[in-house]
Amino acid sequence: MAENRHPDGIDGEVSAELKLAREIEKNHRLEYALRELREEVVHLGERVQKLTQPPNPYGVVVGRNPDGQFDVLVNGRKLRVTVGGAVDVDAIELGAEVILNDQMSIVEARKPESAGDVVVLTKVLDDGLRAIITYRGEEERVCELSDSLRAANLRTGDRLRLDLRSNLLLERIAQPEIEHLLLEHVPDVTFQDIGGLDSQIERIRDAVELPFLHADLFAEYQLPAPKGILLYGPPGCGKTLIAKAVANSLAKRVATKSGSDKGRSYFINIKGPELLNKFVGETERQIRLVFQRAREKSEEGWPVIIFFDEMDSMFRTRGTGVSSDMESTIVPQLLAEIDGADNLQNVIIIGATNREDLIDPAILRPGRLDIKIKIDRPDRAAAREIIMRYLSGDLPIGIETSVESLADSALECIFDQSDSNKFLEITYQNGEKEELYYKDFLSGAMLENIVRRAKKLALKRKIDGLSGGITNSDLLSAVRQEFAEHEDLPNTTNPDDWAKISGRKGERIVYIRTIARREGESGELIGGKEIERAATGQYL
Ligand code: ADP
Repeated sequence: MAENRHPDGIDGEVSAELKLAREIEKNHRLEYALRELREEVVHLGERVQKLTQPPNPYGVVVGRNPDGQFDVLVNGRKLRVTVGGAVDVDAIELGAEVILNDQMSIVEARKPESAGDVVVLTKVLDDGLRAIITYRGEEERVCELSDSLRAANLRTGDRLRLDLRSNLLLERIAQPEIEHLLLEHVPDVTFQDIGGLDSQIERIRDAVELPFLHADLFAEYQLPAPKGILLYGPPGCGKTLIAKAVANSLAKRVATKSGSDKGRSYFINIKGPELLNKFVGETERQIRLVFQRAREKSEEGWPVIIFFDEMDSMFRTRGTGVSSDMESTIVPQLLAEIDGADNLQNVIIIGATNREDLIDPAILRPGRLDIKIKIDRPDRAAAREIIMRYLSGDLPIGIETSVESLADSALECIFDQSDSNKFLEITYQNGEKEELYYKDFLSGAMLENIVRRAKKLALKRKIDGLSGGITNSDLLSAVRQEFAEHEDLPNTTNPDDWAKISGRKGERIVYIRTIARREGESGELIGGKEIERAATGQYL
């Protein structure tokens, strides 16, 4: 064994080096473990600190100060706080939700609260920063507007979301049913588009435009401008068209008067039945809203037309309601709005109805809708004018005809008083009978439709590769088609309308019979019984 040993004792040296290396490695490991331990201790320390920290309070920003500090509402207390360095000050809006640290500095800002109460805007106050709102029924309250609402074009009646804690109005809530009622724009119908109503148009222009153009003269002579017009007559004869043309024409007058190239006017189109709402007080609220909206627009200096279509459905004589007595509150609401309309400069109310006899007489008294204009069914001359409006010269027309000749052939057919054009026979109570022709049911809408049908016939031929252009026989066929379909129109089954058509209002109709027949069919009694019953109503 001894011979095998290294003579220089190298063995001993190697083992010492190995030992040393092992010790060094051990040392490293220890050092590493210590470092890890230290990190762990720090981490644990942080966790302990976090766990033992008081909770971070949330707050709502209610004001900004010039020194860059914010007013924040925390637990009902208002505090003035600073903003931590990591927070973007410019992004903090009024109403924003913020997190504060124990030093009460803002350390994080978020979007405003997304829930809240829905309230109705009554008025934005003059400072533009606050608004009066109606809250929980009739309670009123002044609240501050958030940044985004200050920039928005708010209107009375808008629904807003209120954050009760901060008293801030945060958001406008869309309200589609109101918006569609209050469609506002300048209609593109002009008086030139309307055929056969020249004298009515002249009266309307005098009534509406003169006071507008010569407001100073009217004031000098102490003449009040009319507040409204009632257009009455059968459906489809141009009442809506006239109301739109008035709005359009007033817009142009404003433009000329103010010397600008573009005038503006507003047309608020209200269809009677749409405004009726089964909830108590809701219809009145909407009427109020309509007038408020009109007032706002007119205060900007623009004329506003409030058009009530089918006015009889809403404003019936009080006490005549069949199923409800809604009129007893709706009519007074309208009267109050019209009477209080002295401050309604430039607002004109136009009502349209085919049953003017049903409208509450108080609405038609002087100082209210006191100009009544009848819009009649077109006679031959008027019908010609209407047809010519729709048969413009630049249309493709058959080679052997002219626009005039096209119109004449349609008129010939419409006003033909031969047996084939007889439509109805009515029997009055006194036994007298009267025969009515298709022409007694004629309307502008029908004439427009006749022209449209003729155009379609010509167009179809063209598609089939035949010669193009509208011909006289297209118009004849169109008249026939229109008449044949007219027979089935449901509104002709309304005995009240029939009584009017006959032109002998006082007479009671006891029987109605259609004379018109399609090939192979015989004349047939339609709803004789029912009509007899309905025809005994007060109107007849
Ligand atoms: P209403 O009297 O029921 O308000 P409208 O004015 O709405 O009738 O007419 C319905 C349509 O019939 C109009 O859009 C228009 O196309 C046509 N019309 C009715 N009367 C005339 C007319 N006098 N001149 C030209 N078109 C007319």
